[in-house]
Amino acid sequence: MKAIILEKDNETHTARLGDFPEQDLMDGDVTVRVTHSTVNYKDGLTITNKLPVVRRYPMIPGIDLAGIVESSEHSGFGPGDAVVLNGWGIGETHLGGYAPRARVKSDWLVPLPDGLSPAQAMAIGTAGYTSMLCVMALERHGLTPDHGPALVTGAAGGVGSVAVALLRDLGWHVTASTGRLEEAGYLKELGAHEVIDRSELAKPAKPLGTERWAATVDSVGSTTLATALSMTRYGGAAAACGLAGGMDLPSSVAPFILRGVSLLGIDSVYAPKPLRVEAWERLARDLDLAKLAGMTRTISLDDVIPAANAILEGKVRGRLVVEME
Ligand code: NDP
Repeated sequence: MKAIILEKDNETHTARLGDFPEQDLMDGDVTVRVTHSTVNYKDGLTITNKLPVVRRYPMIPGIDLAGIVESSEHSGFGPGDAVVLNGWGIGETHLGGYAPRARVKSDWLVPLPDGLSPAQAMAIGTAGYTSMLCVMALERHGLTPDHGPALVTGAAGGVGSVAVALLRDLGWHVTASTGRLEEAGYLKELGAHEVIDRSELAKPAKPLGTERWAATVDSVGSTTLATALSMTRYGGAAAACGLAGGMDLPSSVAPFILRGVSLLGIDSVYAPKPLRVEAWERLARDLDLAKLAGMTRTISLDDVIPAANAILEGKVRGRLVVEME
C-alpha cells in the first residue's frame, strides 16, 4: 500500500512516499480502512525529526486517523463502523495514519459520533480534539463566559482556530493572539471579537500584569504563556497544551499565590477513553461545521512531507485534512 515511510538513517531518519507491505502492519485487534488523516504540528516534528518522537523503524507517521472498520476481533467494533483514533503512540511507537490501512488496538478507537464524517473528524484532528480538552478543563475549573474574556494564543494555527470557534459559540468574548495580523479577517469570521499581535505577549513577563483574561487556551508556551498567566484575572486559569513558541516557561509564582490563578496541563495522547468520548461528543454538538469547513484545506498523501515543513514554519492556516485514495 502507498504510505509515508520513515526509515532510520544514522542519527536521523528519511521520509518518503513509497510502498509499504500490508502484511507488515503491527499487531492489533481491529483493522481500519483509513479514509482520512491530518497534519498536526507534532506530525511536522515527527516527519522532520525535529523532536525524537519515533521509537521504531520503519515507521508510518501520522498521529491521527479516521475511517471504517474492515475487520475486528473485538465485540465492540464491527465491519462498517466509522471510527476515529488520536494519539496513543500511533506514528511514534505504532504504525500510524498516513496509509490506507491501519491495524490498531480496539481500546484506542472512539466510535465516530453521529453527525461527523471521517473527513470532518480529521478536519478536527488531534488539534481540534485538544482544543476541546482545553475548553473542558477550563469549564471543570468552574469558568464560564461570565467570569471575563478568553484568550487564544497561536490563534491562526490548528488548535487556535478550533478554540476560537468553540469558545465564541459557547458564549465567550474571545481575544485571538496571532503573529499573522493579515489573518485578522479569518479569525473574526471564526468568532474572535478582537485580534492582537502576538508580540504583545511574547516578551518577558512581569510577575503580575493588568488583569485581562479569565481563561486562556495556549498552544504557544514560553513567554507567551508566562505573560498570559501574569494577565489572568483573579481565580482564572490557562489551559496549556502546546510549545509552538518554545518549551520553557519563564514565569513566577505571583499569579498563582496572589491571584489564585491555575495552570491546567492538557495531554491528548494518553487522555483516558471516557474523556476522549466526551470530547468527541462535545465536538459533534458544539463545533460549527461551517466554521470547520472554512478553516480546512484538503491535501493528498503526496503533499504530506511538504506540509510537515510548512506547519513548523507557522505557514499553515487552520487545519489540513489528508484524503487517502
Ligand atoms: P499549528 O502550527 O497549526 O499552530 C501553531 C501556531 O502557533 C501557529 O499557527 C502560530 O500561530 C503560532 N506560532 C508558531 N510559531 C510561533 C512562535 N515561534 N512564537 C509564537 N507563536 C508561534 O500547530 P497545532 O495547532 O497543530 O499545534 C499547536 C501546538 O500545540 C504545538 O506545539 C503542538 O505540539 C501542541 N499540541 C499539543 C497537544 C497535546 O496533547 N498537549 C495536542 C495538539 C497539539 P499564529 O500564526 O496565529 O501566531
